Formats: sequence, structure tokens, C-alpha cells
Amino acid sequence: MGAAGVRRHNLALVLREVADGEPVSRAAVAARTGLTRGTVSSLVEELLDGGLVTELAAARGGTGRPANPLQLNRSGPAGLGVEIGVDHVGACVVDLAGAVRAVRTAESDHRGRAPAVGLRTAAALAAEVIAEAGLAVVGATVALPGVVGPRGELQRAPNLPRWIDVPVTAELSGLLRGLPVGTGNEADLAALAELWCGGGPPDMLYVSGEIGVGGAIVLGGGLFRGAGGRAGELGHVVVDPGGPRCSCGGRGCLEQAAGQDALLAAAGATDVDDLLARQHDAVPAAAVDAAGRALGVALAGAVNLLDVPAVVLGGLYARLGTPLRDAVAAELDTRVLTSPPVDIRSSVLGADAALRGAATSVVRALLQLPPAS
Ligand SMILES: [Zn+2]
Repeated sequence: MGAAGVRRHNLALVLREVADGEPVSRAAVAARTGLTRGTVSSLVEELLDGGLVTELAAARGGTGRPANPLQLNRSGPAGLGVEIGVDHVGACVVDLAGAVRAVRTAESDHRGRAPAVGLRTAAALAAEVIAEAGLAVVGATVALPGVVGPRGELQRAPNLPRWIDVPVTAELSGLLRGLPVGTGNEADLAALAELWCGGGPPDMLYVSGEIGVGGAIVLGGGLFRGAGGRAGELGHVVVDPGGPRCSCGGRGCLEQAAGQDALLAAAGATDVDDLLARQHDAVPAAAVDAAGRALGVALAGAVNLLDVPAVVLGGLYARLGTPLRDAVAAELDTRVLTSPPVDIRSSVLGADAALRGAATSVVRALLQLPPAS
């Protein structure tokens, strides 16, 4: 690594110390990083000039020159999260400290429409939240309900048959005036949000009830993506080999037993609100229990395979609360070999989890590798 590389590495080191310890003095940053005070002061000047950190008023007392504590600049660069779901779009701006500064969602059913329509709808909503937040958005991540390819394209989404190899990164960047755009699977980004913003444990399975069933695996505080980035497709784990045909081409997948459409049909409910209003009536309650049992069977296989101590339930599964969780727990208790029992919790982030993860991933990348000035 040349001198410029070393300086950039140290710049990132100092920025992360500020992020982790704010408000923090230059002396404390020097002590924690092992860098000299002179080096830290010079790097802090660069971070101040770049608008990444800001100085608070000096604390009184002590001798010598008062030290102005440092913190991340809440008015500095910001991250945009965009979500293109099966039947909705969302957009969210978070500041450098990860606080949500503007968020909007809207219904937008993409199942029968051309991808270009959904992309334009998402871009328009993104422009609205950027204007509302009033911050300098430096990048975006788009959460997508399917398999994302190496160039940021949506390769395949079982519930969006017209979205095949859609170049989401390039298209949305064009619609957002050249803003750098990345993409990710919505369940992966929701799981990262649980980890980063929701107090989620470093080893967990995340499973979210949507029109599809989203799943993600978090190991050692990071996503386990698998060889092709497709790991975590719990919705297409088979729970009934002779069961109904699935959108993936298989048969008896978890999605056909515990996905939103299957659950609504079994409960005799017209939509999610109807199901939630009547979930304690006999037929809906039995449907929720059966879905929870199927979910528990699939999760038990995954837990036995991966030895993860925690499961986080998101989306509709979080909203269904205790009855669903009890059914999942009953299956895990009898089928999982590990002890103590698996920690089963509901997401605390609600429907915005994937959006939060998408937006937060942008600012976390910036904190990991701040731009050289
Ligand atoms: Zn399937």
C-alpha cells in the first residue's frame, strides 16, 4: 500500500472510531487507533472538510486548549433506499448516523405491468423523499423481490413474471440523474436492517411473510450469500413433496403453505387487514397455526443445518404475533437438536425493514471507505 493508500485506510479508521464512539475527542481517537495526535488531527481536518464529521461545542473545565468533541455530520452525505416490491414501492433517506430523515411508501402493483412503469414510479417517489430530506444523497441501494445478478440486474422474481434480467442499477441511475445505484434482495436487506438498526443477533435466520416468503441467513454479523448470491430462499424449501405447484416450478414449497396468498385463502380472508381483524376466529386461527407449523418445519431443517441460535420473523409474520410464533416454536422445540431453545423474535422494524437496510447500506459503505478528498 502506498502513502495515499495508507492515508485513506487511516481516514476510514478515524471515521469509524467517531461513528462507534461519538461524541469523541481527538485524543480518544488517537488512543484507540494507535495513531499519533498529529496524524489524527490532520485526518480529522480532512473529514471536517469533506462534511463527514462535525465538531460539537468544547467541554468546559480542565487545562490547556479545550477539545471539541467530534460526531458524524447529520447534515452531511446521506443514503437513499428504494424498494420495488411485488405490489408496492418505497423510498427512504437516512443520514450518516443512520437516522431516517424522510420515508414514503405507495401501492404500485407490478405483476401485470412492464418493468419500465415500476422503475419510473420508484424513481419519482425517490425524488420526492430526496427533496423532503434536504440532504446531499450520494448513493442508493434498491431492494428487489428476487434474485439479483452481479451487475445489479434483477435476474428473476417468481412473483413478477415480466421482470426477467431487468438492468435495475443502470435504469434507475439514469432516472436519478446518474446517482450511483446498487441493488440487493429485499429479505437480505431487511435482515441487515435487523442486525444494524433492530438489535438483531449476529447469527440468525430472517424470514418474512410477503406475497412471497423472503429469507436470509446472517452468520458472524454478515450476510451468508451462498455461491451465487441466492442463499436464504426458505420460501422454496419443500415442506410437502406432493403439495401444490409453486411459481418456481417445484411442488409443495413453503410459499405454497405459508405465503401470504396461501394463508389468506386458507383463512377465507379477503386481504391482510381482514385476516388480522379475524385472526382469533376458528378458521383463520387454524390457518395461521397451520402456516406457522409449516414455517417451523422449514426453519427446523435450516437451524439443524446451520446451527443458528435465533430466528427473526418479519413482514406479515411479525404482524401475526404470538399465535404464529407459538406454532413455529412448537415445531422447532420438537425438531431442533440444539439447546437452549431457539430464540424466536418478531422484527421491530415493521414493513420498512428492507428500505432501512437499503438506505443504511449506502452510509455504512461510505463509513467503511470515505471518499478521498
Ligand atoms: Zn417454490
